[in-house]
Amino acid sequence: MKCIFCDIVAGSAPVSVIYRDAIVMAFMAIRPTAPGECLVIPQAHVDHFTDMDDDLAQHVMLIGQRIGRAVSAVDRKELDEHARRLAID
Ligand SMILES: [Zn+2]
Repeated sequence: MKCIFCDIVAGSAPVSVIYRDAIVMAFMAIRPTAPGECLVIPQAHVDHFTDMDDDLAQHVMLIGQRIGRAVSAVDRKELDEHARRLAID
């Protein structure tokens, strides 16, 4: 099954990649609802968040936390509130 995230991982949908390893990638939201909003996705297709195994879910969360800390460190006054929000789709 393919989805927009598979296209992004394959490089056929343009995004601003801010992190990538063998398991996940992160990119700036195309239509952000908050300053500094980004998405962390598994590189392998997953139908739903609840379908990820424990190791993958932990890695997604770890990378999301590290990026949130980095974003918050850029301008803590402006981004602090937003950097602490976490949404799971
Ligand atoms: Zn997919």
